[in-house]
Amino acid sequence: MEHTAIERAALLARLRTPAHWDLVVIGGGATGLGVALDATARGFSVALVESEDFAKGTSSRATKLVHGGVRYLARGNVSLVREALRERATLLANAPHLAQPLAFVMPAYHWWEPAFYGFGLKAYDALAGRRGLGPTALLSPRRTLERLPTVRTRGLSGGVEYWDGQFDDARLAVALARTALSRGAVVLNHCPAVKLYREGGRTSGLAVRDRETGESFELQARCVVNATGVWVDAVRDMDRDDGTPHKSPMVAPSQGVHLVVDRDFLPGEHALIVPKTEDGRVLFAVPCLGKTILGTTDTPCDDVPAEPAPFAHEIDFILRESARYLSRPPTRADLRSVWAGLRPLVRPTGDEGDNTKSLSREHTVSVSRSGLVTVTGGKWTTYRAMAEDVLDRCFAAQLLPRRPGGATQHLRLAGAPARSAGSIAQPPGEHLYGSEAALLRSLPGADRWLWRDGAGGLSEAMVRFAVRHEMARTVEDVLARRSRLLFLDAACAEALARPVAALLAEELGRPIAAAELVAFEALARCYRGLTAPAQPISATRPFQEYA
Ligand SMILES: Cc1cc2nc3c(=O)[nH]c(=O)nc-3n(C[C@H](O)[C@H](O)[C@H](O)COP(=O)(O)OP(=O)(O)OC[C@H]3O[C@@H](n4cnc5c(N)ncnc54)[C@H](O)[C@@H]3O)c2cc1C
Repeated sequence: MEHTAIERAALLARLRTPAHWDLVVIGGGATGLGVALDATARGFSVALVESEDFAKGTSSRATKLVHGGVRYLARGNVSLVREALRERATLLANAPHLAQPLAFVMPAYHWWEPAFYGFGLKAYDALAGRRGLGPTALLSPRRTLERLPTVRTRGLSGGVEYWDGQFDDARLAVALARTALSRGAVVLNHCPAVKLYREGGRTSGLAVRDRETGESFELQARCVVNATGVWVDAVRDMDRDDGTPHKSPMVAPSQGVHLVVDRDFLPGEHALIVPKTEDGRVLFAVPCLGKTILGTTDTPCDDVPAEPAPFAHEIDFILRESARYLSRPPTRADLRSVWAGLRPLVRPTGDEGDNTKSLSREHTVSVSRSGLVTVTGGKWTTYRAMAEDVLDRCFAAQLLPRRPGGATQHLRLAGAPARSAGSIAQPPGEHLYGSEAALLRSLPGADRWLWRDGAGGLSEAMVRFAVRHEMARTVEDVLARRSRLLFLDAACAEALARPVAALLAEELGRPIAAAELVAFEALARCYRGLTAPAQPISATRPFQEYA
Protein backbone atom coordinates (compact mmCIF):
# COMPACT_ATOMS: atom_id res chain seq x y z
CA MET A 1 0.00 0.00 0.00
CA GLU A 2 1.23 3.48 -0.92
CA HIS A 3 2.10 5.54 2.10
CA THR A 4 2.27 8.86 0.29
CA ALA A 5 -0.64 11.20 0.95
CA ILE A 6 -3.59 11.10 -1.46
CA GLU A 7 -3.84 14.45 -3.25
CA ARG A 8 -7.33 15.46 -4.34
CA ALA A 9 -5.91 17.90 -6.89
CA ALA A 10 -3.98 15.08 -8.55
CA LEU A 11 -7.10 12.89 -8.72
CA LEU A 12 -9.09 15.75 -10.21
CA ALA A 13 -6.34 16.35 -12.77
CA ARG A 14 -6.54 12.69 -13.82
CA LEU A 15 -10.33 12.92 -14.14
CA ARG A 16 -10.04 16.10 -16.21
CA THR A 17 -7.50 14.65 -18.63
CA PRO A 18 -9.41 13.57 -21.74
CA ALA A 19 -9.59 9.78 -21.60
CA HIS A 20 -11.94 7.00 -22.49
CA TRP A 21 -12.53 5.10 -19.25
CA ASP A 22 -13.50 1.46 -19.49
CA LEU A 23 -15.85 1.87 -16.57
CA VAL A 24 -17.20 4.79 -14.55
CA VAL A 25 -19.10 3.99 -11.37
CA ILE A 26 -21.60 6.44 -9.86
CA GLY A 27 -21.91 5.97 -6.09
CA GLY A 28 -19.29 5.30 -3.42
CA GLY A 29 -21.11 2.96 -1.06
CA ALA A 30 -20.37 -0.74 -0.59
CA THR A 31 -21.80 -1.64 -3.99
CA GLY A 32 -20.07 0.96 -6.14
CA LEU A 33 -16.73 0.63 -4.37
CA GLY A 34 -16.90 -3.15 -4.75
CA VAL A 35 -17.52 -2.80 -8.50
CA ALA A 36 -14.70 -0.26 -8.89
CA LEU A 37 -12.24 -2.47 -7.04
CA ASP A 38 -13.16 -5.62 -8.94
CA ALA A 39 -12.94 -3.91 -12.34
CA THR A 40 -9.65 -2.27 -11.49
CA ALA A 41 -8.25 -5.57 -10.19
CA ARG A 42 -9.13 -7.11 -13.58
CA GLY A 43 -7.07 -4.43 -15.32
CA PHE A 44 -9.83 -2.12 -16.55
CA SER A 45 -9.41 1.65 -16.36
CA VAL A 46 -11.90 2.78 -13.72
CA ALA A 47 -13.20 6.01 -12.22
CA LEU A 48 -15.72 6.29 -9.38
CA VAL A 49 -17.53 9.44 -8.27
CA GLU A 50 -19.34 9.80 -4.98
CA SER A 51 -21.68 12.70 -4.45
CA GLU A 52 -20.99 13.16 -0.73
CA ASP A 53 -18.50 11.00 1.11
CA PHE A 54 -17.74 7.29 0.82
CA ALA A 55 -20.45 5.40 2.74
CA LYS A 56 -22.40 8.58 3.52
CA GLY A 57 -25.52 6.75 2.28
CA THR A 58 -26.71 3.41 3.63
CA SER A 59 -23.23 1.91 3.86
CA SER A 60 -22.31 3.65 7.14
CA ARG A 61 -25.67 2.89 8.74
CA ALA A 62 -25.73 -0.91 8.83
CA THR A 63 -26.03 -3.08 11.94
CA LYS A 64 -22.42 -3.91 11.07
CA LEU A 65 -22.89 -7.68 10.91
CA VAL A 66 -21.05 -9.85 8.42
CA HIS A 67 -23.63 -12.56 8.18
CA GLY A 68 -24.83 -15.46 6.12
CA GLY A 69 -28.46 -14.46 6.66
CA VAL A 70 -29.63 -17.29 8.86
CA ARG A 71 -33.25 -16.19 8.43
CA TYR A 72 -33.08 -16.88 4.68
CA LEU A 73 -32.27 -20.45 5.59
CA ALA A 74 -35.58 -20.66 7.44
CA ARG A 75 -37.18 -19.64 4.13
CA GLY A 76 -35.31 -22.41 2.32
CA ASN A 77 -33.01 -20.11 0.33
CA VAL A 78 -29.93 -22.29 0.64
CA SER A 79 -27.92 -20.88 -2.29
CA LEU A 80 -28.28 -17.32 -0.99
CA VAL A 81 -27.05 -18.33 2.46
CA ARG A 82 -24.19 -20.38 1.03
CA GLU A 83 -23.03 -17.41 -1.05
CA ALA A 84 -23.20 -15.06 1.94
CA LEU A 85 -21.31 -17.53 4.15
CA ARG A 86 -18.58 -17.76 1.53
CA GLU A 87 -18.40 -13.97 1.34
CA ARG A 88 -18.37 -13.72 5.14
CA ALA A 89 -15.20 -15.84 5.20
CA THR A 90 -13.61 -13.85 2.36
CA LEU A 91 -14.25 -10.52 4.06
CA LEU A 92 -12.91 -11.71 7.41
CA ALA A 93 -9.74 -12.97 5.68
CA ASN A 94 -9.16 -9.86 3.55
CA ALA A 95 -9.78 -7.19 6.20
CA PRO A 96 -9.10 -8.75 9.64
CA HIS A 97 -8.61 -5.32 11.23
CA LEU A 98 -12.14 -4.26 10.23
CA ALA A 99 -14.15 -7.50 10.10
CA GLN A 100 -14.05 -10.19 12.76
CA PRO A 101 -16.00 -13.18 14.12
CA LEU A 102 -18.65 -12.46 16.74
CA ALA A 103 -20.58 -14.89 18.94
CA PHE A 104 -24.34 -14.38 19.28
CA VAL A 105 -26.59 -15.69 22.01
CA MET A 106 -30.30 -16.16 21.60
CA PRO A 107 -31.85 -16.30 25.08
CA ALA A 108 -34.78 -18.72 25.38
CA TYR A 109 -37.90 -18.19 27.46
CA HIS A 110 -39.91 -21.14 26.13
CA TRP A 111 -38.87 -24.77 26.54
CA TRP A 112 -39.03 -25.49 22.81
CA GLU A 113 -36.86 -22.56 21.64
CA PRO A 114 -33.34 -23.99 22.17
CA ALA A 115 -34.14 -27.17 20.23
CA PHE A 116 -36.06 -25.31 17.50
CA TYR A 117 -33.49 -22.58 16.86
CA GLY A 118 -30.54 -24.85 17.64
CA PHE A 119 -31.60 -27.21 14.86
CA GLY A 120 -31.71 -24.38 12.30
CA LEU A 121 -28.38 -23.00 13.45
CA LYS A 122 -26.73 -26.42 13.24
CA ALA A 123 -27.85 -26.46 9.61
CA TYR A 124 -26.27 -22.99 9.26
CA ASP A 125 -22.99 -24.44 10.63
CA ALA A 126 -23.22 -27.34 8.22
CA LEU A 127 -23.67 -24.98 5.27
CA ALA A 128 -20.66 -22.93 6.38
CA GLY A 129 -18.60 -26.13 6.54
CA ARG A 130 -14.89 -25.43 6.89
CA ARG A 131 -15.67 -21.70 6.72
CA GLY A 132 -17.56 -21.94 10.01
CA LEU A 133 -16.45 -19.50 12.71
CA GLY A 134 -17.42 -21.61 15.72
CA PRO A 135 -19.92 -24.33 16.62
CA THR A 136 -23.53 -23.69 17.56
CA ALA A 137 -24.12 -24.73 21.18
CA LEU A 138 -27.19 -25.15 23.35
CA LEU A 139 -26.71 -23.31 26.64
CA SER A 140 -28.07 -23.86 30.12
CA PRO A 141 -29.55 -20.80 31.88
CA ARG A 142 -26.28 -20.46 33.84
CA ARG A 143 -24.11 -20.50 30.70
CA THR A 144 -26.51 -18.08 28.99
CA LEU A 145 -26.07 -15.66 31.89
CA GLU A 146 -22.28 -16.05 31.80
CA ARG A 147 -22.39 -14.82 28.20
CA LEU A 148 -25.18 -12.27 28.62
CA PRO A 149 -24.87 -11.11 32.26
CA THR A 150 -27.55 -8.42 31.86
CA VAL A 151 -30.21 -10.52 30.16
CA ARG A 152 -33.58 -10.82 31.90
CA THR A 153 -33.47 -13.84 34.20
CA ARG A 154 -37.19 -14.31 34.89
CA GLY A 155 -38.36 -17.29 32.86
CA LEU A 156 -34.95 -17.86 31.24
CA SER A 157 -34.80 -21.49 30.19
CA GLY A 158 -31.45 -21.45 28.39
CA GLY A 159 -30.09 -20.16 25.13
CA VAL A 160 -28.38 -20.93 21.85
CA GLU A 161 -24.94 -19.67 20.92
CA TYR A 162 -23.88 -19.33 17.28
CA TRP A 163 -21.30 -17.41 15.25
CA ASP A 164 -21.35 -14.73 12.57
CA GLY A 165 -19.16 -11.64 12.14
CA GLN A 166 -19.12 -7.89 12.67
CA PHE A 167 -17.35 -5.04 10.89
CA ASP A 168 -16.79 -1.29 10.84
CA ASP A 169 -18.84 -0.43 7.76
CA ALA A 170 -17.65 3.11 6.98
CA ARG A 171 -13.98 2.31 7.56
CA LEU A 172 -14.34 -0.74 5.35
CA ALA A 173 -15.75 1.48 2.60
CA VAL A 174 -12.75 3.79 2.90
CA ALA A 175 -10.44 0.76 2.81
CA LEU A 176 -12.13 -0.37 -0.44
CA ALA A 177 -11.70 3.11 -1.93
CA ARG A 178 -8.03 3.22 -0.98
CA THR A 179 -7.38 -0.29 -2.29
CA ALA A 180 -8.98 0.62 -5.61
CA LEU A 181 -6.85 3.77 -5.73
CA SER A 182 -3.69 1.82 -5.03
CA ARG A 183 -4.58 -0.46 -7.97
CA GLY A 184 -4.88 2.47 -10.37
CA ALA A 185 -8.52 3.55 -10.19
CA VAL A 186 -9.50 7.19 -9.67
CA VAL A 187 -11.95 7.33 -6.81
CA LEU A 188 -13.32 10.69 -5.71
CA ASN A 189 -15.74 11.80 -3.01
CA HIS A 190 -17.72 15.06 -2.93
CA CYS A 191 -18.19 14.84 -6.69
CA PRO A 192 -21.74 14.07 -7.89
CA ALA A 193 -22.68 12.80 -11.32
CA VAL A 194 -25.01 15.46 -12.69
CA LYS A 195 -25.83 14.35 -16.21
CA LEU A 196 -25.56 11.32 -18.50
CA TYR A 197 -24.50 11.64 -22.14
CA ARG A 198 -25.48 9.49 -25.08
CA GLU A 199 -23.99 8.89 -28.50
CA GLY A 200 -26.02 6.99 -31.09
CA GLY A 201 -28.54 6.04 -28.41
CA ARG A 202 -25.85 4.53 -26.17
CA THR A 203 -24.73 5.89 -22.80
CA SER A 204 -21.31 7.32 -23.57
CA GLY A 205 -20.33 9.20 -20.44
CA LEU A 206 -21.38 11.63 -17.77
CA ALA A 207 -20.86 15.09 -16.37
CA VAL A 208 -19.59 15.37 -12.82
CA ARG A 209 -19.17 18.36 -10.55
CA ASP A 210 -16.44 18.94 -7.99
CA ARG A 211 -18.38 20.20 -4.99
CA GLU A 212 -15.36 22.06 -3.58
CA THR A 213 -14.69 24.26 -6.60
CA GLY A 214 -18.01 24.00 -8.44
CA GLU A 215 -16.10 22.95 -11.56
CA SER A 216 -17.94 20.56 -13.89
CA PHE A 217 -16.33 18.27 -16.42
CA GLU A 218 -17.12 15.34 -18.62
CA LEU A 219 -16.03 11.72 -18.43
CA GLN A 220 -16.22 9.44 -21.46
CA ALA A 221 -16.86 5.79 -20.67
CA ARG A 222 -17.50 2.48 -22.41
CA CYS A 223 -19.65 1.46 -19.51
CA VAL A 224 -21.41 3.47 -16.78
CA VAL A 225 -22.57 1.70 -13.61
CA ASN A 226 -25.27 3.28 -11.47
CA ALA A 227 -24.60 2.03 -7.93
CA THR A 228 -26.40 4.76 -6.02
CA GLY A 229 -28.37 2.61 -3.57
CA VAL A 230 -31.78 4.09 -2.76
CA TRP A 231 -31.00 6.89 -5.24
CA VAL A 232 -30.69 4.67 -8.34
CA ASP A 233 -33.99 5.94 -9.72
CA ALA A 234 -32.77 9.55 -9.87
CA VAL A 235 -29.82 8.40 -12.01
CA ARG A 236 -32.09 6.15 -14.11
CA ASP A 237 -34.21 9.25 -14.75
CA MET A 238 -31.12 11.01 -16.17
CA ASP A 239 -30.95 8.09 -18.64
CA ARG A 240 -34.46 8.78 -20.06
CA ASP A 241 -34.79 10.19 -23.60
CA ASP A 242 -37.17 12.92 -22.46
CA GLY A 243 -35.77 13.31 -18.93
CA THR A 244 -39.13 12.43 -17.36
CA PRO A 245 -39.13 10.17 -14.28
CA HIS A 246 -39.53 6.40 -14.74
CA LYS A 247 -43.11 5.33 -14.22
CA SER A 248 -42.05 2.43 -12.05
CA PRO A 249 -39.22 3.14 -9.65
CA MET A 250 -36.82 0.26 -9.07
CA VAL A 251 -36.36 0.84 -5.35
CA ALA A 252 -38.83 0.66 -2.51
CA PRO A 253 -36.89 2.23 0.40
CA SER A 254 -37.29 0.86 3.89
CA GLN A 255 -35.88 2.65 6.90
CA GLY A 256 -33.92 0.97 9.67
CA VAL A 257 -33.09 2.75 12.93
CA HIS A 258 -30.38 1.98 15.47
CA LEU A 259 -29.98 3.23 19.03
CA VAL A 260 -26.61 3.39 20.75
CA VAL A 261 -26.20 3.00 24.51
CA ASP A 262 -23.23 2.38 26.79
CA ARG A 263 -21.49 -0.98 26.97
CA ASP A 264 -22.69 -1.68 30.50
CA PHE A 265 -26.16 -2.41 29.12
CA LEU A 266 -24.56 -5.46 27.49
CA PRO A 267 -21.12 -6.11 28.97
CA GLY A 268 -19.14 -9.09 27.72
CA GLU A 269 -18.12 -10.32 24.31
CA HIS A 270 -21.44 -11.66 23.02
CA ALA A 271 -24.18 -10.11 20.96
CA LEU A 272 -27.81 -10.75 21.87
CA ILE A 273 -30.32 -11.72 19.21
CA VAL A 274 -34.07 -11.91 19.55
CA PRO A 275 -35.29 -13.89 16.54
CA LYS A 276 -38.89 -12.73 16.81
CA THR A 277 -39.97 -9.48 18.40
CA GLU A 278 -43.59 -8.64 19.16
CA ASP A 279 -44.16 -7.80 15.51
CA GLY A 280 -42.09 -10.65 14.09
CA ARG A 281 -38.84 -8.78 13.39
CA VAL A 282 -35.29 -9.63 14.49
CA LEU A 283 -33.73 -7.46 17.21
CA PHE A 284 -30.01 -7.25 17.92
CA ALA A 285 -27.98 -5.84 20.78
CA VAL A 286 -24.40 -5.81 19.54
CA PRO A 287 -21.20 -4.85 21.35
CA CYS A 288 -19.53 -2.54 18.85
CA LEU A 289 -16.70 0.02 19.06
CA GLY A 290 -17.03 0.37 22.83
CA LYS A 291 -20.82 0.82 22.82
CA THR A 292 -23.94 -1.31 22.44
CA ILE A 293 -25.94 -0.98 19.24
CA LEU A 294 -29.66 -1.80 19.47
CA GLY A 295 -31.72 -2.30 16.35
CA THR A 296 -33.31 -2.31 13.99
CA THR A 297 -36.63 -1.36 12.45
CA ASP A 298 -38.04 -1.87 8.98
CA THR A 299 -40.33 1.02 8.06
CA PRO A 300 -41.39 1.50 4.43
CA CYS A 301 -40.93 5.11 3.31
CA ASP A 302 -41.45 7.13 0.15
CA ASP A 303 -38.68 9.66 0.45
CA VAL A 304 -34.94 9.22 0.27
CA PRO A 305 -33.25 12.12 2.07
CA ALA A 306 -29.47 12.09 2.46
CA GLU A 307 -30.02 12.23 6.24
CA PRO A 308 -33.01 10.05 7.02
CA ALA A 309 -34.57 10.76 10.41
CA PRO A 310 -35.79 8.17 12.89
CA PHE A 311 -39.51 8.23 13.63
CA ALA A 312 -40.42 8.48 17.32
CA HIS A 313 -42.33 5.21 17.07
CA GLU A 314 -39.19 3.43 15.82
CA ILE A 315 -37.18 4.63 18.82
CA ASP A 316 -39.99 3.61 21.17
CA PHE A 317 -40.23 0.19 19.54
CA ILE A 318 -36.53 -0.57 20.01
CA LEU A 319 -36.57 0.69 23.61
CA ARG A 320 -39.68 -1.35 24.38
CA GLU A 321 -38.31 -4.55 22.87
CA SER A 322 -34.91 -4.06 24.53
CA ALA A 323 -36.66 -3.65 27.87
CA ARG A 324 -38.23 -7.09 27.42
CA TYR A 325 -34.78 -8.74 27.29
CA LEU A 326 -32.38 -6.55 29.28
CA SER A 327 -32.50 -6.53 33.07
CA ARG A 328 -31.79 -2.78 33.04
CA PRO A 329 -34.04 -1.29 30.37
CA PRO A 330 -32.49 1.58 28.42
CA THR A 331 -34.48 4.81 28.30
CA ARG A 332 -34.31 7.86 26.04
CA ALA A 333 -31.97 9.49 28.57
CA ASP A 334 -29.45 6.68 27.97
CA LEU A 335 -29.19 7.22 24.22
CA ARG A 336 -25.73 8.23 23.03
CA SER A 337 -26.68 8.30 19.37
CA VAL A 338 -29.67 7.51 17.16
CA TRP A 339 -29.37 7.02 13.42
CA ALA A 340 -31.37 5.78 10.49
CA GLY A 341 -30.45 4.14 7.19
CA LEU A 342 -32.45 3.34 4.07
CA ARG A 343 -32.50 -0.20 2.66
CA PRO A 344 -32.71 -0.23 -1.13
CA LEU A 345 -35.32 -2.98 -1.49
CA VAL A 346 -35.90 -3.87 -5.10
CA ARG A 347 -39.36 -3.69 -6.64
CA PRO A 348 -40.24 -6.07 -9.45
CA THR A 349 -39.63 -4.09 -12.65
CA GLY A 350 -39.67 -4.91 -16.35
CA ASP A 351 -41.20 -1.65 -17.47
CA GLU A 352 -40.00 0.58 -20.23
CA GLY A 353 -37.82 -1.97 -21.96
CA ASP A 354 -35.33 -2.46 -19.15
CA ASN A 355 -33.88 -5.90 -19.34
CA THR A 356 -34.08 -6.63 -15.66
CA LYS A 357 -32.92 -9.89 -14.23
CA SER A 358 -32.81 -10.75 -10.59
CA LEU A 359 -29.49 -12.41 -9.88
CA SER A 360 -30.56 -13.41 -6.41
CA ARG A 361 -33.42 -12.57 -4.09
CA GLU A 362 -31.26 -9.88 -2.62
CA HIS A 363 -29.74 -7.76 -5.36
CA THR A 364 -30.66 -6.86 -8.90
CA VAL A 365 -28.58 -5.83 -11.88
CA SER A 366 -30.29 -4.33 -14.91
CA VAL A 367 -29.03 -2.96 -18.22
CA SER A 368 -31.15 -0.26 -19.84
CA ARG A 369 -31.67 0.11 -23.59
CA SER A 370 -28.93 2.72 -23.68
CA GLY A 371 -26.54 0.43 -21.83
CA LEU A 372 -26.67 2.08 -18.38
CA VAL A 373 -25.98 -0.67 -15.85
CA THR A 374 -27.90 -0.30 -12.57
CA VAL A 375 -27.23 -2.39 -9.48
CA THR A 376 -29.06 -2.16 -6.19
CA GLY A 377 -30.29 -4.19 -3.22
CA GLY A 378 -28.22 -6.89 -1.56
CA LYS A 379 -26.24 -6.46 1.60
CA TRP A 380 -22.81 -5.26 2.67
CA THR A 381 -21.65 -8.82 3.36
CA THR A 382 -22.05 -9.81 -0.29
CA TYR A 383 -20.67 -6.64 -1.91
CA ARG A 384 -17.84 -8.59 -3.57
CA ALA A 385 -20.11 -11.22 -5.10
CA MET A 386 -22.44 -8.43 -6.28
CA ALA A 387 -19.50 -6.75 -8.01
CA GLU A 388 -18.70 -9.99 -9.85
CA ASP A 389 -22.34 -10.20 -10.97
CA VAL A 390 -22.21 -6.62 -12.23
CA LEU A 391 -19.11 -7.29 -14.32
CA ASP A 392 -20.67 -10.48 -15.72
CA ARG A 393 -23.63 -8.39 -16.86
CA CYS A 394 -21.29 -5.82 -18.44
CA PHE A 395 -19.62 -8.64 -20.39
CA ALA A 396 -22.94 -10.23 -21.36
CA ALA A 397 -24.18 -6.86 -22.67
CA GLN A 398 -20.87 -6.45 -24.58
CA LEU A 399 -20.10 -3.23 -22.82
CA LEU A 400 -16.68 -4.56 -21.80
CA PRO A 401 -14.49 -7.38 -23.12
CA ARG A 402 -14.69 -10.44 -20.87
CA ARG A 403 -11.88 -10.93 -18.36
CA PRO A 404 -11.63 -13.71 -15.78
CA GLY A 405 -13.22 -13.18 -12.37
CA GLY A 406 -11.98 -13.99 -8.88
CA ALA A 407 -9.54 -11.05 -8.92
CA THR A 408 -10.66 -9.83 -5.49
CA GLN A 409 -11.08 -13.23 -3.83
CA HIS A 410 -7.73 -13.03 -2.07
CA LEU A 411 -7.11 -9.30 -2.44
CA ARG A 412 -6.28 -7.93 0.98
CA LEU A 413 -7.67 -4.48 1.66
CA ALA A 414 -5.75 -1.38 2.71
CA GLY A 415 -4.33 -1.80 6.19
CA ALA A 416 -5.00 -5.56 6.41
CA PRO A 417 -2.57 -6.92 9.00
CA ALA A 418 -1.33 -10.51 9.23
CA ARG A 419 -3.27 -10.77 12.50
CA SER A 420 -5.69 -8.34 14.06
CA ALA A 421 -4.35 -6.52 17.13
CA GLY A 422 -7.71 -5.73 18.72
CA SER A 423 -11.42 -6.35 18.65
CA ILE A 424 -14.07 -4.29 16.87
CA ALA A 425 -16.12 -4.54 20.05
CA GLN A 426 -13.47 -2.39 21.81
CA PRO A 427 -13.56 1.41 21.63
CA PRO A 428 -12.11 2.64 18.33
CA GLY A 429 -8.36 2.95 18.45
CA GLU A 430 -5.08 2.26 16.70
CA HIS A 431 -5.95 -1.41 16.17
CA LEU A 432 -8.44 -0.37 13.46
CA TYR A 433 -5.50 0.89 11.39
CA GLY A 434 -4.06 -2.64 11.12
CA SER A 435 -0.70 -2.68 9.34
CA GLU A 436 -0.82 1.13 9.08
CA ALA A 437 -0.73 1.70 12.85
CA ALA A 438 2.99 2.58 12.64
CA LEU A 439 2.30 5.11 9.87
CA LEU A 440 -0.44 6.62 12.05
CA ARG A 441 1.92 6.84 15.03
CA SER A 442 4.52 8.61 12.89
CA LEU A 443 2.17 11.57 12.37
CA PRO A 444 2.19 14.61 14.68
CA GLY A 445 -0.15 14.30 17.66
CA ALA A 446 -0.16 10.50 18.02
CA ASP A 447 -0.31 10.92 21.80
CA ARG A 448 -2.47 14.03 21.91
CA TRP A 449 -6.01 12.77 22.44
CA LEU A 450 -9.06 14.83 21.52
CA TRP A 451 -11.19 12.15 23.13
CA ARG A 452 -10.21 9.12 25.15
CA ASP A 453 -12.13 5.90 25.74
CA GLY A 454 -10.19 3.13 27.45
CA ALA A 455 -7.13 2.37 25.36
CA GLY A 456 -8.76 3.99 22.32
CA GLY A 457 -10.24 7.31 21.30
CA LEU A 458 -9.52 9.97 18.73
CA SER A 459 -6.01 11.38 18.53
CA GLU A 460 -4.81 14.41 16.59
CA ALA A 461 -2.79 12.02 14.43
CA MET A 462 -5.99 10.16 13.50
CA VAL A 463 -7.50 13.39 12.17
CA ARG A 464 -4.32 14.07 10.16
CA PHE A 465 -4.34 10.48 8.88
CA ALA A 466 -7.99 10.87 7.84
CA VAL A 467 -7.10 13.89 5.68
CA ARG A 468 -3.76 12.71 4.30
CA HIS A 469 -4.54 9.05 3.65
CA GLU A 470 -8.30 8.56 3.85
CA MET A 471 -9.63 11.42 1.72
CA ALA A 472 -11.59 13.15 4.51
CA ARG A 473 -12.57 16.67 3.43
CA THR A 474 -15.07 17.82 6.05
CA VAL A 475 -15.63 17.76 9.80
CA GLU A 476 -18.43 15.28 9.19
CA ASP A 477 -16.18 12.99 7.12
CA VAL A 478 -13.79 12.81 10.08
CA LEU A 479 -16.27 12.53 12.92
CA ALA A 480 -18.88 10.32 11.24
CA ARG A 481 -16.98 7.95 8.97
CA ARG A 482 -13.18 7.94 9.67
CA SER A 483 -13.72 8.02 13.42
CA ARG A 484 -17.27 6.81 14.15
CA LEU A 485 -17.94 9.23 16.95
CA LEU A 486 -21.13 10.74 15.52
CA PHE A 487 -22.62 7.23 15.44
CA LEU A 488 -21.30 6.27 18.89
CA ASP A 489 -21.63 9.39 21.02
CA ALA A 490 -23.19 12.33 19.24
CA ALA A 491 -22.73 14.79 22.14
CA CYS A 492 -19.04 14.01 22.16
CA ALA A 493 -18.87 14.45 18.36
CA GLU A 494 -20.56 17.84 18.70
CA ALA A 495 -18.06 18.91 21.36
CA LEU A 496 -15.14 17.90 19.13
CA ALA A 497 -16.34 19.65 15.98
CA ARG A 498 -14.27 22.79 16.57
CA PRO A 499 -10.94 21.16 17.53
CA VAL A 500 -11.33 18.78 14.59
CA ALA A 501 -12.08 21.73 12.29
CA ALA A 502 -8.88 23.46 13.43
CA LEU A 503 -6.77 20.40 12.58
CA LEU A 504 -8.62 19.90 9.32
CA ALA A 505 -7.92 23.51 8.33
CA GLU A 506 -4.22 22.99 9.06
CA GLU A 507 -4.10 19.82 6.97
CA LEU A 508 -6.18 21.16 4.06
CA GLY A 509 -4.40 24.52 4.08
CA ARG A 510 -7.66 26.48 4.08
CA PRO A 511 -10.16 27.62 6.71
CA ILE A 512 -13.27 25.58 7.44
CA ALA A 513 -16.41 27.58 6.70
CA ALA A 514 -18.45 28.57 9.75
CA ALA A 515 -21.55 27.24 7.97
CA GLU A 516 -19.99 23.77 7.77
CA LEU A 517 -19.37 23.76 11.51
CA VAL A 518 -22.84 24.98 12.35
CA ALA A 519 -24.37 22.36 10.05
CA PHE A 520 -22.34 19.59 11.67
CA GLU A 521 -23.30 20.69 15.18
CA ALA A 522 -26.97 20.72 14.14
CA LEU A 523 -26.55 17.23 12.67
CA ALA A 524 -24.98 15.99 15.90
CA ARG A 525 -27.97 17.32 17.85
CA CYS A 526 -30.24 15.26 15.57
CA TYR A 527 -28.15 12.15 16.29
CA ARG A 528 -28.50 12.93 19.99
CA GLY A 529 -32.24 12.68 19.40
CA LEU A 530 -32.73 16.27 20.59
CA THR A 531 -34.09 17.95 17.46
CA ALA A 532 -35.89 17.15 14.30
CA PRO A 533 -33.62 16.98 11.27
CA ALA A 534 -32.97 20.17 9.33
CA GLN A 535 -34.22 18.33 6.27
CA PRO A 536 -37.72 17.02 6.94
CA ILE A 537 -38.40 13.38 6.16
CA SER A 538 -40.86 14.54 3.53
CA ALA A 539 -38.06 16.15 1.51
CA THR A 540 -37.85 14.66 -1.93
CA ARG A 541 -34.88 13.04 -3.57
CA PRO A 542 -31.72 14.80 -2.40
CA PHE A 543 -29.91 14.54 -5.69
CA GLN A 544 -32.72 15.97 -7.79
CA GLU A 545 -30.98 19.33 -7.90
CA TYR A 546 -28.37 17.86 -10.23
CA ALA A 547 -30.63 15.92 -12.55
C1 LIG B 1 -30.70 -0.41 8.90
C2 LIG B 1 -29.83 -1.26 8.02
C3 LIG B 1 -29.05 -2.26 8.57
C4 LIG B 1 -28.24 -3.04 7.75
N1 LIG B 1 -27.43 -3.97 8.32
C5 LIG B 1 -26.63 -4.73 7.55
C6 LIG B 1 -25.75 -5.66 8.15
O1 LIG B 1 -25.65 -5.76 9.37
N2 LIG B 1 -24.98 -6.41 7.33
C7 LIG B 1 -25.04 -6.31 5.98
O2 LIG B 1 -24.35 -7.06 5.31
N3 LIG B 1 -25.85 -5.40 5.38
C8 LIG B 1 -26.64 -4.61 6.14
N4 LIG B 1 -27.45 -3.67 5.57
C9 LIG B 1 -27.47 -3.53 4.11
C10 LIG B 1 -26.29 -2.68 3.59
O3 LIG B 1 -25.99 -1.63 4.47
C11 LIG B 1 -26.65 -2.13 2.22
O4 LIG B 1 -27.06 -3.18 1.39
C12 LIG B 1 -25.48 -1.43 1.54
O5 LIG B 1 -24.87 -0.53 2.41
C13 LIG B 1 -25.97 -0.70 0.30
O6 LIG B 1 -24.85 -0.09 -0.30
P1 LIG B 1 -24.98 0.74 -1.64
O7 LIG B 1 -23.61 1.07 -2.07
O8 LIG B 1 -25.82 -0.01 -2.61
O9 LIG B 1 -25.79 2.04 -1.24
P2 LIG B 1 -25.24 3.37 -0.46
O10 LIG B 1 -24.33 3.02 0.65
O11 LIG B 1 -26.42 4.19 -0.12
O12 LIG B 1 -24.37 4.08 -1.56
C14 LIG B 1 -24.92 4.82 -2.62
C15 LIG B 1 -24.10 6.08 -2.75
O13 LIG B 1 -24.44 6.75 -3.96
C16 LIG B 1 -24.22 8.13 -3.75
N5 LIG B 1 -24.93 8.89 -4.79
C17 LIG B 1 -26.25 9.07 -4.95
N6 LIG B 1 -26.49 9.81 -6.04
C18 LIG B 1 -25.29 10.11 -6.60
C19 LIG B 1 -24.87 10.85 -7.73
N7 LIG B 1 -25.74 11.47 -8.53
N8 LIG B 1 -23.54 10.96 -8.00
C20 LIG B 1 -22.62 10.33 -7.21
N9 LIG B 1 -22.97 9.62 -6.10
C21 LIG B 1 -24.29 9.50 -5.80
C22 LIG B 1 -24.77 8.35 -2.33
O14 LIG B 1 -24.22 9.52 -1.74
C23 LIG B 1 -24.33 7.08 -1.62
O15 LIG B 1 -23.12 7.25 -0.91
C24 LIG B 1 -28.25 -2.84 6.36
C25 LIG B 1 -29.04 -1.83 5.80
C26 LIG B 1 -29.81 -1.03 6.63
C27 LIG B 1 -30.63 0.06 6.05
